[in-house]
Amino acid sequence: MRLPLAALWLTLAISVPLAAQPADWTRPFPGHRVIGNLYSVGTYDLGVFLITSSEGHILINTGLEDSTPLIRKNIESLGFRLEDVKTLLTMQAHWDHAAALAEIKQISGAEILATAGDAPMLEDGGFSDPHFGGKVWFKPVKVDRILKDGEVIELGETRLTVVETPGHTSGSVSYTMKVREAGRGYDVVIANMGSINPGLRLAVNPTYPGISEDFAKTFRIQNTLSADVWVAGHASQYGLHEKYKPGQAYNPTTFVDPEGYRAAVERHEKLYLEYLATERR
Ligand SMILES: [Zn+2]
Repeated sequence: MRLPLAALWLTLAISVPLAAQPADWTRPFPGHRVIGNLYSVGTYDLGVFLITSSEGHILINTGLEDSTPLIRKNIESLGFRLEDVKTLLTMQAHWDHAAALAEIKQISGAEILATAGDAPMLEDGGFSDPHFGGKVWFKPVKVDRILKDGEVIELGETRLTVVETPGHTSGSVSYTMKVREAGRGYDVVIANMGSINPGLRLAVNPTYPGISEDFAKTFRIQNTLSADVWVAGHASQYGLHEKYKPGQAYNPTTFVDPEGYRAAVERHEKLYLEYLATERR
């Protein structure tokens, strides 16, 4: 494999099992409003998103096993309660996004919804992960219901559409919603980027059957999504720290970045094609 892994790490913040986790995964970062009823409540690099409604909230991702106190603090600083989370979602069944699911489910009593591809990994703590599996990475959870591609999750006035974007894991998923702010509508994408973890096999002796086609499908779909505003599983992927500084006043345009979204999808697709070419060489 010819890929410059260190460079990949820096640009895509890929999750690899390291003896020491990147400090940015556990470093606190203030909770803040992204746009409308979408809030970011994760750590410095791990994207955790709260979508609020009058009937309770949706939480997407949970970070590491010890991320719960940070997430709780961020949610409370924004005037909401972790106990009011009714629906728990993930973008990919890897430990850096799913490890606190069990604890947050216990605290909130929320329902866990997951894709058919990711549910088995969530239910065995990552043991059946075709790439990293063979050990339990996080506390397993029971998935309450399987999400369907294109399904609209409704909670209060919130409508969140499920967009399967597999490859990074077999059940990786993105979400879209519409937000209205100051008389203008915004298309919002919560994107699971198609990043390739080191050692993954796409075409030759694939990590799981169909993985290469899954990545191709993800880029095809993500290229068609309209994203006025977008966020992703890692802050570095969507340029959080360039767009927002702690204490900055809320403005609905802070995260407006359709060109950045398009460029990020393109960049990931290019890396995928290069990876594939290298593998076949
Ligand atoms: Zn991952």
